[in-house]
Formats: sequence, C-alpha cells, structure tokens
Amino acid sequence: MTLVVTSSCVTGDGVVVIDALASPAQGERLVRVIRSVTREPIRWLVLTHHHPDHHFGAVVLRRAGARVIAHPDVSTGVDEQSREAAESAWTLVVGKEQMVGFAYADAPDRAVVTADTLRLGGQTIVIAHPWRGPGGAHTAADLIVWLPLERVLFAGDLLIEDGVTMVVDGSGKGLLAALDTLAALAPRIAVPGHGAIPADPQVLIGRTRDYMLRLRAAMRAAVERNRSLNRALDSLPPADEGRPVSLRSRERRNANRVYLEVERELMGLEP
Ligand SMILES: [Zn+2]
Repeated sequence: MTLVVTSSCVTGDGVVVIDALASPAQGERLVRVIRSVTREPIRWLVLTHHHPDHHFGAVVLRRAGARVIAHPDVSTGVDEQSREAAESAWTLVVGKEQMVGFAYADAPDRAVVTADTLRLGGQTIVIAHPWRGPGGAHTAADLIVWLPLERVLFAGDLLIEDGVTMVVDGSGKGLLAALDTLAALAPRIAVPGHGAIPADPQVLIGRTRDYMLRLRAAMRAAVERNRSLNRALDSLPPADEGRPVSLRSRERRNANRVYLEVERELMGLEP
C-alpha cells in the first residue's frame, strides 16, 4: 500500500495532499515522495473520510506544515469503538513499528459539510460532501475533491477498483445518490480510494452502481419473502477469516448492512 490511497496536487503555490495513508511510517514515505517531486510547501491535507487507512499518517503531514480539511464528523469509521480502541485495533493491522509517533490529526482546521473551494497558484480545487441525506454513503463524512479545469475527481472510497465499495459505515441508498453526483461531474479522470485509476471513470461508476442496485434488489426480495438475515446471507460465499476487506468479506458485510437498511425502508422507518 504505497500511493494507492492518496494523491497530491502541486499547484505552483503549495501542495494539496489528498489522504494521508495508513500510519505515521507511511505518512513519512508520502512526504519523501512529495519532496522528490517539489519543494513547494505542503499547505493542505484533504481527508476524504475518517477510516484509519486514509488518515493515520496525517500527523506527519501536519508536522510537515499541512492544515487539515475534513468533514467534522470524526466519529465515522470507528463506529461503536472509541478512538483509542480504533488506534489499538489498527496497530494490530499495520504493526507497532509503523505506528511510532502516532497521534490523531483528522480533526479539521477547515471543516467542510457542504462544499468549499481552494484557490492556489491558479489552481481551483473544489471539496464537497456529495451526499448529505440520512445514512451516509461510504461513511457519513465523505468528501470528494474535484479539479474543474482538468476534470479530475478524487473520489475517496466512494469508488474502489473492483466496484465493491463498503457501505457498512454508510448506506447503499446514500452510495447510489453519491454516485449520481460523481457521474454528473463527467470526470475525465477519477482516482479511486483503492486500486488503479480506471480507463473510463463512467465504467467504474456504473459498475459500482450496478453492484449496489443488484444487492439492494436481492436483499429487498429476501425481506419481502420473510427470509431471515442469516438465510439471505446463505446465498453468499462465507467471509474470509481474518480478512475483513477481501472481496468476499466486503460482499457479505455489505449484504448484512443493506438487508437491515432495506428492512427499515420497507417498515417505513427510513425517511
Ligand atoms: Zn474507507
């Protein structure tokens, strides 16, 4: 995991970094990579959301001079866990050596809850919260970064390479709404939160939408036939033990979440 969850814009009047990788050690590597490209000051770090793999290196960027732009709902992604528990759990994932010097640095210096525009060195950078309805999309605190002149979109985890993005901290319905916003931008290039940049952004947006529409339809059919959650999940392969973000695990965890979401909708509990 090197630069797959992050990107930077060198504006001519400072660097804007998008996401900060998964640990202080990775954050240091990121700063070294930026320094190999430019001596411009690192002015801003934009966090696309508050999952650890996107911001646990943020403290290093902050020490390098960046101020943080993020959605202020930092509870997202740690769900029921406390921030300390999330730190301990993540340390087990990446290893203690990676986490030396860690401190939370995802609280925004500049909070974005709707949209904001940075103008630096002739570059216009729009930062927006694409779905403000109930339930969130990938999370309740997603931000996208949009370069309107170049038509480049940094989508965070609203898009990932294989189209099976997680909604366990958000909602399928919100993801579909956020994807409509992404599609309407008609990006020339879309940088996903994980994996390779797709040749055609609309293909990945469409693939993600199709996956979620299929999953919602399948879970809706199960609820309407009074099938229990466990029986509805029986149609899916088991999750991969110890690999919570493998494809099979994501599919199963999403199905679980979407079943409950659709059930609430059918009971009239969702707005
Ligand atoms: Zn995420």
